[in-house]
Amino acid sequence: MFLVLVTNRIIGKPIDYLSRCWNKQVKPISEQYLTFHFEENLNRLEHTFEPWQQTNYMCKGIISCNVNNFIKRDTLINGFRTSFSNTELSKTDFLFVNYGEKELSPVTKGMYLDQLIKSARYSPLAIIDYFFQNKVAINKGSNEEYALYITTINNVNVTLQIRKSDYLLNKIITLSYDELFGDVLTTFIFKDYNIVENIHYSKSISIEKYNGKVKDEVKISIPKLSTNVSRILIKPSNFEFSEDIEVKPAITLEKYNDNIYFLELKHTDDRILVVEFKDFMLVAEAPLNSKNGEVIIKEVKKIAPTKPIRYFVFGHYHPHYIGGIRPFVHKGAEIICSKIDEDYVRYLTDAPHTLAPDSLHSEFKQLKIKEIKDSLVIENGKIEMKIYFIGEESMHTKDYLIYYFPQEKLLFEDDLVWIEKEGSIKRAKSRQVGLYKALKRLNLDVKTIIQSWPVKDYGVKTVIPFEDLEKSMTAN
Ligand SMILES: [Zn+2]
Repeated sequence: MFLVLVTNRIIGKPIDYLSRCWNKQVKPISEQYLTFHFEENLNRLEHTFEPWQQTNYMCKGIISCNVNNFIKRDTLINGFRTSFSNTELSKTDFLFVNYGEKELSPVTKGMYLDQLIKSARYSPLAIIDYFFQNKVAINKGSNEEYALYITTINNVNVTLQIRKSDYLLNKIITLSYDELFGDVLTTFIFKDYNIVENIHYSKSISIEKYNGKVKDEVKISIPKLSTNVSRILIKPSNFEFSEDIEVKPAITLEKYNDNIYFLELKHTDDRILVVEFKDFMLVAEAPLNSKNGEVIIKEVKKIAPTKPIRYFVFGHYHPHYIGGIRPFVHKGAEIICSKIDEDYVRYLTDAPHTLAPDSLHSEFKQLKIKEIKDSLVIENGKIEMKIYFIGEESMHTKDYLIYYFPQEKLLFEDDLVWIEKEGSIKRAKSRQVGLYKALKRLNLDVKTIIQSWPVKDYGVKTVIPFEDLEKSMTAN
């Protein structure tokens, strides 16, 4: 024994920080479950009034977990609204009932692996075990204070940062791909370690999402070891993972007149406006991601192969209109937007996309912004298009723009009118009233309104005679 110790010291056998961490945070659980209560302050980016605005939720519940199982029951509270979800994950299956649902949601293998990472916001034990079982080697980037271990789980780059002083997990850092934001770092910071039945666990976990732009806090309490945990969800006898569906672009072109075209993107349910001026093209809206932006550019080139796309404009900052902006910057288009969105546009177009490179990532181009204040007229040849800033009047976002063609008495807008295809016209809700008031204030003579989204879903008209909008102001 003495000899072994001496030999180790002489050849300096490196300390295996990962297995020491595993010994402290995972091993003592063995076949049992670590059960605890949690309460979290959860912030989400949703389709809100302005970029980076967060919607705050309180969430609380009970979790039982070990290396092969993760069982969570929780209650999500947003103002007066309360909803529930249930998650039961084992070595072979993943049952999940989402908020507001009664039935099991379809799950894919990818979602199963993602759940491993998601569970880290409450307990890192499954991830530590994953690294330990896969014998991930220590990374050269380790320093005096921290040992680093890095691997890839379902296309997500995952780093464990273990404290060398006490072998406890300090951070998990993930780098994942988001189709809007590009490379996205999420950091889980484990604080306030405590011990229950020889298991070291963190009582307080901070999560920094979207490269630190959005922060959550999770508090853990009443931990205990239990041998038997009851399950609520019943596994269907025909349970199987659904396939990850690859979305194939489906696009059709509609010529409105000699200068105005609409591209319908069936796979995203969006309608894109393309205007052909004498010397150049303008595109309004590009949904969700760079791929769609590229697809739109290809179609525009078919309409007018030699004319450059001089302008790209989006009606408001929600992903269905701005998500495909980057390829337009790459093509040298000027981005028309108000001051409100300038920083956001800069963020989206500066964002690295190393995990799924697009044209702008591979070949960087300087962003060119053309600021719109109250309105902007684009005139070239005999064609005239007017863009108006209606902002909060839209009752939807602070940055709202609408497009008007005086010769055609045509208005194109994103998502303000919700008149059902069938049945009588109902009383307008706030967005629709907002648009009507804006049109009256601007004194625009409109015959037809064409809407960008939705095109087919939701059973609403998206080519709307102005009289319909007018009727909805006074309808019952
Ligand atoms: Zn919207």
